[in-house]
Amino acid sequence: MKTSIFWFRRDLRLNDNRALNEALKSGMPVMPLFIFDTNITDELAVDDPRISFIYENLSSINKDLRKSGSSVLIRTGDPLKIWKELIKSYHIHAVFVNKDYEPYAIKRDNEAEALLKVSGIPLFRFTDQVIFEKNEIVKSDGKPYTVFTPYRNKWLQKLKDNHNALTVEKTPVDSFFLRKNHVFPSIDKTGFRKSMIRARPFDLSVIKEYHKYRDLPASDRTSYLSPHLRFGTVSIRKIVKKAIDENMVFLNELIWREFFMQILFHFPGVVADNFKPAYDDIKWLNNDKDFDRWSRGETGYPMVDAGMRQLNQTGYMHNRVRMITAGFLCKHLLTDWRRGEAYFAQRLLDYELSSNNGNWQWAAGTGCDAAPYFRVFNPDTQQKKFDPRSEYILEWIPEFGKKSYPDKMIDHNFARQRAIETYQKGIKRKS
Ligand code: FAD
Repeated sequence: MKTSIFWFRRDLRLNDNRALNEALKSGMPVMPLFIFDTNITDELAVDDPRISFIYENLSSINKDLRKSGSSVLIRTGDPLKIWKELIKSYHIHAVFVNKDYEPYAIKRDNEAEALLKVSGIPLFRFTDQVIFEKNEIVKSDGKPYTVFTPYRNKWLQKLKDNHNALTVEKTPVDSFFLRKNHVFPSIDKTGFRKSMIRARPFDLSVIKEYHKYRDLPASDRTSYLSPHLRFGTVSIRKIVKKAIDENMVFLNELIWREFFMQILFHFPGVVADNFKPAYDDIKWLNNDKDFDRWSRGETGYPMVDAGMRQLNQTGYMHNRVRMITAGFLCKHLLTDWRRGEAYFAQRLLDYELSSNNGNWQWAAGTGCDAAPYFRVFNPDTQQKKFDPRSEYILEWIPEFGKKSYPDKMIDHNFARQRAIETYQKGIKRKS
């Protein structure tokens, strides 16, 4: 019997899922597939919490599918090799995917499409992880935006003109999944171990008053949506709808997410290089001992240390504190943003190439629409403003205020002056 295949990637849900719904409309039984892609997973620790997150969500999807006699086919390996095997084993009608805009994913999908085409199998791609993609929000001359505010204004205008952009996809009534009970592997069989670090469930009740509390890490009143948006366990359409009804400040943050995605799509060079080449000659000190103290949360600046310890222990860090820790590494310690970016990429449960890269380059001043190079956050002033009662700090630094807590590793005024001079020299040489 002919089968349509729906290939799960970063869209781990059965409801309001564009490509899955299109597969279900194809008139053929749908076989859901997930591939643990070893080109990605080979780089990860065996107990990487993101794998556990994916695994748990697939397991719950599988339980739902079992109710109608179906299941997810789980494979581990190089996607192209797996597709070669699947083409031999199944009579495939078509393959349905939601688009992914990262450079590796685009290459992988293009190669899979070419391979399937040889056997006469079409690969259909749909927009699902963003409201507007690639070239949908561009300047009147067709060029991409590199400044957030005009991008956001165009995005909002486009939404007004496109009511369908937020339409929730209803599963077609006469659709059906392939009735087949594939063995759902234990996590060890996928080559991984269960992590002790778990993503929190998201909380949409914070959206209404988001603007009041979002910068106060101790209040802990942000949505915790990031890993869920990263892996698509929730539909962005549903979240944007709620944001429009309840809080435009919150909506703004969701638009930043799409802004950085389109920057990565149009300027894939940012993965390795400064967005602004004029910053290429900055002489980073890249001192390994400094980097170690920063990564362990032992700089003597409590706001920096609390953030790094939160990250190391939970795989999460509050946004305000991400800005402070990133700024400290780049400016106070004059460490290349790429080292900090890589450390966050390893640890963050919500790691997203576009947002991580965009925000690190923002903090370093090298990015599009970035913080100016001469703005050097004073971590202590930031603490007085955003954690005035030291509640966040005490949560993560039990020895805060005791002898065992380290002295400041560098004087703020000295570091600030050094950063400004180093940046000025680096930038001057190019211009
Ligand atoms: P909320 O404050 O509740 O925001 C809701 C959603 O809006 C987030 O889930 C996210 O999807 C989006 N959002 C919020 N702030 C930003 C932002 N500045 N840029 C882009 N999208 C945003 N976010 C990631 O998802 N992955 C990353 O790898 C990542 N790396 C970062 C690195 C640095 C140095 C900095 C300063 C920020 C980074 N961010 C990243 C953005 C932001 O810190 C997180 O999205 C946010 O803290 C996640 O928590 P939340 O879901 O509770 O956010």
